[in-house]
Amino acid sequence: MANIINGKEISKAIREEIKESTELLVRDTGVRPGLAVIIVGEDPASQVYVRNKKKACDEVGFYSESYELPESTTQEELNALVDKLNRNDKIHGILCQLPLPKHLDENEVIMRISPAKDVDAFHPENVGKIMIGDYSFLPCTPAGVMALLERSGIEVSGKECVVVGRSNIVGKPQAMLLLHANGTVTICHSRTKNLAEVCRRADILVAAIGKADFFTGDMVKEGAVVIDVGMNRRADGKLTGDVDFASVEPKASYITPVPGGVGPMTITMLMQNTLTAAKNSVK
Ligand code: NDP
Repeated sequence: MANIINGKEISKAIREEIKESTELLVRDTGVRPGLAVIIVGEDPASQVYVRNKKKACDEVGFYSESYELPESTTQEELNALVDKLNRNDKIHGILCQLPLPKHLDENEVIMRISPAKDVDAFHPENVGKIMIGDYSFLPCTPAGVMALLERSGIEVSGKECVVVGRSNIVGKPQAMLLLHANGTVTICHSRTKNLAEVCRRADILVAAIGKADFFTGDMVKEGAVVIDVGMNRRADGKLTGDVDFASVEPKASYITPVPGGVGPMTITMLMQNTLTAAKNSVK
C-alpha cells in the first residue's frame, strides 16, 4: 500500500506560509504582491483557471487584477496591455492564460512580458536561468512536484528519476529541477523505445504525457515514488491522471492522486513566484 501524497494539504500549508510572508512584506516595506491575469476569448476551462487564480490571490492577501478580453482582441491591443502592466508598480507578476486564440502569437506575448514579472517562468531569460540553476522563478507545475517530494521527505539525490513527457512547461523543466536536486535523470517521449522497461528503472517516476490511465502496474518498480502530472477528462466528465491508480498504487511507496495531487500545487507555486517578484522589486 502506497503513502498517498496529499497535494491539497501540502498546498494549504504553503499558502499559509505565503500569507504570513505577505503580511510581513506589507508591514516592513508597504509593498503588497500584485498579480495581473489576462485571458483572451471564452474558453470555459481557462475561465475556471483564471477564477481560481483570483481566489488564491485573495486567500494569501495579494492584490490582483484580471483582464477578460474579447476573442476579437488584436495582437497590438494585447501587446499594449502587457506594456502597460510591465510599467505598473502595483503589479509584480503578469500571467497570460494560454492557449490564446489562433490569430494571436503566444510567443510574442511570452517575449513581451518583463522577465522580472514573468511568474510563469516562460520567458527565455528565465528558462535559461533554470538551465544554469540560477533562478528566482521556478516553472509552476515542476516546482509543485519538487515541493511535494520535499515535504513528503522523499530524497532525490542519487535516485533514478524518469520523466515521461518533454514539453517546455512540464517535462523539460521537471527534468532540470530533478537534475539540480542531484537525481540521475532520464527523459522519455513518444519516440522512446521500450518505455515500460525504462519506467521500471525509476525510483521516482514522473508521468506527464496527457494520456488517461496510461501507466500501469507492470511499468512500475516495487517501491517506486509515482508522481502523476496528467489531467485528463474521461467521457463521463471525471478528471483522471496519466497513471492507472488501481494497478500502480499497490506497488508504489508514494503516489499522488488525481485530483488532489499535483493539481493544487501549480497555483500555489504561482503565488510563490508572485511573492518572490514582489520581494525582488524592493531589493
Ligand atoms: P504536451 O502535450 O505538451 O506534451 C506531452 C508529452 O508527452 C510530449 O513530450 C509527448 O512526446 C509525450 N507523449 C505523448 N504520448 C506519449 C506516449 N505514448 N509515450 C511517451 N510519451 C508520450 O503536454 P503537457 O506537458 O502540457 O501536459 C502533460 C499532462 O500534464 C497533460 O495531461 C496536462 O493536462 C497535464 N498538466 C497538468 C498540470 C497541473 O497543474 N497538474 C499543468 C500542466 C499540464 P513528444 O514530445 O514526442 O510528442
